Amino acid sequence: MDDLAYGTRNKRGDYSPKEPVKLAPYFTFPPSPSALLKWLPSYFLPWNVPFMALGALMWFVLTPSVETMKSLAPGWILYLFALNALTVLIVYGALELRLYVKRAQGGRFKFNGLWPSERPSDVFMFKSQNVDNIIRTFATGVPVWTAYQVFGMWAYSNHIGPWTTFAEHPVWLAVFGLLIPIYHEVHFYCIHRLIHVPIFYKYIHSVHHNSVNPSPWSSLSMHPIEHLLYWSDSLIHLILPSHPLLFLYGLQVTGTGAVVGHVGFDKIEVGDGGVDSHAYAHYLHHKYFEVNYADGATALDMLFGTWHDGSKEAQAQMEARYAAKVARVNKR
Ligand SMILES: [Zn+2]
Ligand SMILES: [Zn+2]
Repeated sequence: MDDLAYGTRNKRGDYSPKEPVKLAPYFTFPPSPSALLKWLPSYFLPWNVPFMALGALMWFVLTPSVETMKSLAPGWILYLFALNALTVLIVYGALELRLYVKRAQGGRFKFNGLWPSERPSDVFMFKSQNVDNIIRTFATGVPVWTAYQVFGMWAYSNHIGPWTTFAEHPVWLAVFGLLIPIYHEVHFYCIHRLIHVPIFYKYIHSVHHNSVNPSPWSSLSMHPIEHLLYWSDSLIHLILPSHPLLFLYGLQVTGTGAVVGHVGFDKIEVGDGGVDSHAYAHYLHHKYFEVNYADGATALDMLFGTWHDGSKEAQAQMEARYAAKVARVNKR
């Protein structure tokens, strides 16, 4: 594919899509049903339907029986850890292998002109972004994810938490299911703002931002405290009436779904076409730090003036905000 038909590349080789990132249209006023209909496919694909399928696979096929999960035992806990590790290994590993190891589409649609593997840096363990990212993912990321999953499944199995059924509350569970990715983003926005407070940033969140040029393995490369905050969104399923299927889907959106913002390419080429990665908003967060605390599924960044859709206007707005901040600091 000719990526320059869809965007531009600067002297450093960085690619920017021409089309600004769009916010989900349910915020437009007056409401526009046609815009909503146009947007719906991008809500489901390419990401949320596979995450739903993974959540369903976990619940219907791979999760141990309620009887087993009533008591905490190493066997099924380690089994769930292995399942989550395998999911991450397959999904992240496949994207990394295709785009960064084999470089199947070269640098076409790649936001950053450089390759992380060619930039050894002291901020990373063993000076390697990939090695550092992979260690953090499996040493603390997947264990924390699994801990939340074990706690939730143990609680459901012991009738702790309002487990309701699709026969009892079909409408509520369907609506809740559809809201999960949006709720996840609102939750992420809140914890993400918190860990950008300078003291927390310094000790916690800077670990994630070391990957200025992220690749799929950067997705869960976080400080363990960020991992703890990150998956705490799953606790809502023990507060509101929910179902293990939705709980497991939510864990997929948060866990496996972390990859969405870290693909590093605007489109993934498939055959003669390309699949939109939805990665640009979060790539801009890694590039500029103080924009896009969430992606475009919430209006929170727009509301608080931190939305960057990749356009020149948004760039100018961000620069004006930085200049005002510098002036404020210098005045003190
Ligand atoms: Zn990130
Ligand atoms: Zn951040």
